[in-house]
Amino acid sequence: MTSSSKNSPKLRLDFYESGVGETIVITFPSGGLGIVDAHPSNHHHRPGILDLVKGKEIHFVCLSHPHKDHGKDLVPILEQHKGIKSFWHTIYNIPAFIYCIEETVNFPSEMRDYATKLNQDWGEFFVDIIGAVADKDIPTHELRSNLVADEIDGVEIHCLGPDEELQNSFSKTYTEKLKNLKIKLPDPNLLSAILALKFADSVVLLGADALRENWESALKHYHKRNLPKAKILKVPHHGARNAIDFGRNAKTYLDACSNEPKVKAVIFAGDSKHPDDDVFSKISSKAETICLSNGRKPNMGNSNPLGLQLPGATFVYPAPVCNPVVSFEVDMNGNVSVQNGTVCNVACIPPKGG
Ligand SMILES: [Zn+2]
Ligand SMILES: [Zn+2]
Ligand SMILES: [Zn+2]
Repeated sequence: MTSSSKNSPKLRLDFYESGVGETIVITFPSGGLGIVDAHPSNHHHRPGILDLVKGKEIHFVCLSHPHKDHGKDLVPILEQHKGIKSFWHTIYNIPAFIYCIEETVNFPSEMRDYATKLNQDWGEFFVDIIGAVADKDIPTHELRSNLVADEIDGVEIHCLGPDEELQNSFSKTYTEKLKNLKIKLPDPNLLSAILALKFADSVVLLGADALRENWESALKHYHKRNLPKAKILKVPHHGARNAIDFGRNAKTYLDACSNEPKVKAVIFAGDSKHPDDDVFSKISSKAETICLSNGRKPNMGNSNPLGLQLPGATFVYPAPVCNPVVSFEVDMNGNVSVQNGTVCNVACIPPKGG
């Protein structure tokens, strides 16, 4: 931070390499924080989560959607940081569903298997989150696309997804599942909170793990709210294929992004399978791509040399790291400066056939 620029208000974003997960820290112009997802890094690149937020005012802690790779490290913040103003989430009635599952789980049945599976997936961590929020009496705020924008220090926070109908259908399906195990559950990524932060003329688009199906309506909300094209994009779903449509005239999240100057696209790739090759080239053709991690790079070290298989866990190799932290500052004149992180170019792309 230079002393000459200290006085002009700035919005800061820090994206931390978080192993298979994601951590995003927003610093508002007067110094308070918003946390969108948090997961520890197995490379120890990210400071401990409590050190990151120590002594800071926290406006909100947001779980973008109920997946552990986005929420594991929100638990200690919610449990231990004092005075968190609000917990943001998108999950509607699912807490009730989880308690319901816990009631039923003592009966040895197919239901029990289902509940065990659900707990492994995300039930257990989610109960920890909801437990901490209830225990500390943290006010909750359910995000959906028909809300009026929130404002913190002159930064507007628009929620572009999920839509309320989708949340309702989720809640309905989860409840029906208790009576009929054959019912297929929807993908929790669909519940992703899509957030657009607008500061002066600049927009930061945080896409969580939103899928292809989410973007059509999110883009409608984007235009309806007259938001300028995004200068910073958190690439949705770790650069996975199911978050983008390759159809000729299909609209994608890149349609909400600035071409001139090119949007800065941040990728949390997580594991060895992300991002998808085609998605990475599509993004890189339209954006300055800055990865935290990128599974397309050849893995330098074997993090599981003994080849241990943990029972009940599928092992995925962590992606090699391009940047341990990527930070931006956005000023009142619409300038975005990169404080940490370098653009990924050829170094990020393995040679063809190799
Ligand atoms: Zn994820
Ligand atoms: Zn997810
Ligand atoms: Zn890279």
